[in-house]
Amino acid sequence: MKSKFFLIFLLFSGLLLSAQQDNNKPNLIVIMTDDMGYADVGFNGCKDIPTPNIDSIAYNGAHIVNGYVSFPVCGPSRAGFITGRYQDRFGFTTNPTIDPANNIAGLPLDEKTIAEVLRTKGFKSAIVGKWHLGTHPNFHPLNRGFDYFYGFLSGGHNYFMNQLTIENLENVKSKWAWYKTKLRENHKTLEFEDYKTDYLTDELSEAGLRFINKQAENNQSFFLFLAYNAPHTPMHATEKYLSRFPDIEDKKRKTYAAMVSAVDDGVGNVLRTLKDNGIEENTLIVFLSDNGGAHNNASQNTPLRGTKGSVYEGGLRVPFAIQWKGVIPANTSYEESVSSLDIMASIVDILDIKTNPKKPLDGVNIIPYLTGKKKGAPHEYLFWRKWEQNAMAAINADYKLLKVKKNAETEFYNLKKDVSEKENIKGSNSKKVQEIQKEWDKWNVQLKDRVFPTLGNDKWWLRIQSKSHD
Ligand code: CA
Repeated sequence: MKSKFFLIFLLFSGLLLSAQQDNNKPNLIVIMTDDMGYADVGFNGCKDIPTPNIDSIAYNGAHIVNGYVSFPVCGPSRAGFITGRYQDRFGFTTNPTIDPANNIAGLPLDEKTIAEVLRTKGFKSAIVGKWHLGTHPNFHPLNRGFDYFYGFLSGGHNYFMNQLTIENLENVKSKWAWYKTKLRENHKTLEFEDYKTDYLTDELSEAGLRFINKQAENNQSFFLFLAYNAPHTPMHATEKYLSRFPDIEDKKRKTYAAMVSAVDDGVGNVLRTLKDNGIEENTLIVFLSDNGGAHNNASQNTPLRGTKGSVYEGGLRVPFAIQWKGVIPANTSYEESVSSLDIMASIVDILDIKTNPKKPLDGVNIIPYLTGKKKGAPHEYLFWRKWEQNAMAAINADYKLLKVKKNAETEFYNLKKDVSEKENIKGSNSKKVQEIQKEWDKWNVQLKDRVFPTLGNDKWWLRIQSKSHD
């Protein structure tokens, strides 16, 4: 009898707790844009594209001024974020080829994703949007810890839903045609009638909202990876968004602005949905781009040097903001370097999850730094490597050492004084240069060479190519 009452008490107190803020078990939403410029959000000074909803994440939480991704292009950057490990530890050095028959071109199966790890704490996870971590069935999100997938397995994608006419990746007959494949929900190919909107960015936002609403209804802890492909090329936007920018004359910039504006609407709807469901305070929200603004989409990285693909700041430093109401104080502007690898390390630490010690995480729990509980820099060093180009970069405090390609001279900058990397001060800092190079070398020997064929350069593609020459 006594134990029965105790059980009722436990159930009741559990219900009470779940309805309140639970700082030990927040939901996680990561909103990732694609090829968005550092200077293309209001909180980094953008003037011609209003991004009030994205900005609200920074203003209600932390604006990460020096937020980095682990690689300056899509696939490897995502592999780093999703495992919380430098992707070169497992040879993910480049964008994997898009070939559903290739069972090595993707995130190695012995690496654990953030979704797999969160599952151990009863989370339900969804990826909505761009996957880009392998197209063979082995790499499918549902086989990598996710409970729900709505989007496309490849990299870039057409935005107009009525242009998605190719049934699936197996039917792709030419390079880049995968941009026109129909969306998929889990393993199902969606038809035009299944779409709720006529524009991909809106479609992904809607799918994200449906997932959040469903989890909230079930009082279910969740992780949503809302992986927009906007504002990556092709430059596609609908009149609804284009009409917001009558004053931008440059056509490409105007379309880019419209694409970003659509994302901002989606972010606004996500934030509103969290509020409506009473779970805004119990959700940790991270916004970032997968790499710096690209040279071909009219993005802007000002004042940073370089673009997507570069080891200069313009390739690696991205718009980055974190909101966790009730935990991170509003209007926090954080200037120490933060990495996309820190997202995994933070949630793992918050939830007290033990990960495989043989596969150590490379990030740190960033939350205590953002709340001011911990002082100092979270990272003594951040490292980058572009294996194919023999390029490298390392940041240590205010200093950055880099080399853009094999046989190029190494360059050395003081980022605090020279954020645009204009004045190479290698000559007067040889001791510091040697010290950072030595640390990078120690890191580099732990890494693997590339383990799979790069985008469009594999037997499948070559086979199709040779057929087309027949
Ligand atoms: Ca990208």
